[in-house]
Amino acid sequence: MKRLTVIGAGLAGSEAAWQAAERGISVTLYEMRPTVNTAAHQSDQCAELVCSNSMGSNLSGSAPHLLKEELRRLGSLVMRSADRHSVPAGGALAVDRDLYGKEITQALENHPNIEFRREELKSIPADRPVIIATGPLTSPDLSEEIAKIIGSEHLYFYDALSPIIDADTIDYSKAFFASRYGKGTDDYLNCPMNREEYQKFVDEINGAKKVVFKSFEKAAYFEGCVPIEELARRGEKTLAFGPLKPVGLNHPETGERYAAVLQLRKENKEGTAYNLVGCQTKMTYPEQKRVFRMAPGLENAEFFRYGAIHRNTYINAPDFLNRDLSLKTDPGLYFAGQIVGVEGYVESCAMGMMAGIGIARKLLDQVFELPPAQTAIGALLDYVSENRKANYQPMNINFGLFLQEGPRERDKKLRNAKIVQTALDKHDQWMKESLK
Ligand SMILES: Cc1cc2nc3c(=O)[nH]c(=O)nc-3n(C[C@H](O)[C@H](O)[C@H](O)COP(=O)(O)OP(=O)(O)OC[C@H]3O[C@@H](n4cnc5c(N)ncnc54)[C@H](O)[C@@H]3O)c2cc1C
Repeated sequence: MKRLTVIGAGLAGSEAAWQAAERGISVTLYEMRPTVNTAAHQSDQCAELVCSNSMGSNLSGSAPHLLKEELRRLGSLVMRSADRHSVPAGGALAVDRDLYGKEITQALENHPNIEFRREELKSIPADRPVIIATGPLTSPDLSEEIAKIIGSEHLYFYDALSPIIDADTIDYSKAFFASRYGKGTDDYLNCPMNREEYQKFVDEINGAKKVVFKSFEKAAYFEGCVPIEELARRGEKTLAFGPLKPVGLNHPETGERYAAVLQLRKENKEGTAYNLVGCQTKMTYPEQKRVFRMAPGLENAEFFRYGAIHRNTYINAPDFLNRDLSLKTDPGLYFAGQIVGVEGYVESCAMGMMAGIGIARKLLDQVFELPPAQTAIGALLDYVSENRKANYQPMNINFGLFLQEGPRERDKKLRNAKIVQTALDKHDQWMKESLK
């Protein structure tokens, strides 16, 4: 029987092990809990949801729902258990985490093709293939081993994420393109604030509800990824001398000067998404929406991703991984889950699903093409293997990641509906042709 080793029975490792075992591969699955715990997990269950019990939007037509739907069609163990143990949560898929976790754990423990070992792996086994799916809280010894392979400068330990918004929801009559002192190209979009607007913005940041740092996350804060609210707390002018500095950003036509300028930078080549520069934050998601929408030009901004700062081990995947998630320098060694630079439960599960299916089919000498870029899973695989930005950051699924063919539909609702329909069509066609 062909063999596979999976390290970590979180969202990615559980799905990967299940998919490979279901295809007749003999899987050894290592999970260090409960012998060794992480600072966030609370149980010994597989695929534990460490924080919120919500797996995001389940509203058809949204990007998170599309990703879930693709996983469901592929027979995901995680999605099946989540659907079976869902609890009412408006448009979101929230689960009874205990019933959900128990079902996944039992499915893996009782699978005839899975040898489940409750053990911390401190080094990477010599056998191949191996999937490293040890997540944002990979144990220190294994992190060191990974750093030895890819170089410590390519292994990151914290996310300091600024929000990303939909370019179509910006008011361009208020925001203007300009670079500081007119140097370079006009890559920045600027949201100018007068004195009152700036003062109100600072006051609202100070008063906003924040997520409390976990004790093990404090280091991030001292290491330079200072959240916008900490800068605001230090004094009313701190932001205007920091990320919201207005100097050199007078209005290109009127010459008007401002008290502060919130700068936005293109997040992708197409310019369909913009990053709020320097706005990493621990404000709660509803508060981010409320406060950032106060900036002139952002009154109706829709968020592709909210800001965050938290402990997160991940690798600079685009430089090291092939699209099938194998390491360029050691193609039998795979990475899956949040460690490749996706963010979120379902996204991590999707990466595990792809590694598990891909390896199994390779081992069995079966044809296998990865899903096309127009699908949600394909878009994530592209992001982790092709993103060429200097500052690689973890990403949730969102419409900004999708490859869109043909003329761009101007109406956002229609455009997104088209993305969803194309994705599902391509996904089904891919399943038919590639998973025969
Ligand atoms: C504090 C915190 C809050 C979060 N909140 C949310 C949220 O609300 N919503 C959301 O979508 N995402 C959230 N995330 C992200 C979420 O945890 C990940 O998206 C998801 O769990 C990643 O899946 P994974 O399989 O990559 O890693 P995990 O689910 O973490 O699984 C990795 C597994 O590997 C095990 N492991 C680690 N090292 C070893 C080793 N050396 N040997 C053996 N086993 C090992 C761990 O015990 C763990 O079970 C949060 C993350 C953190 C840290």
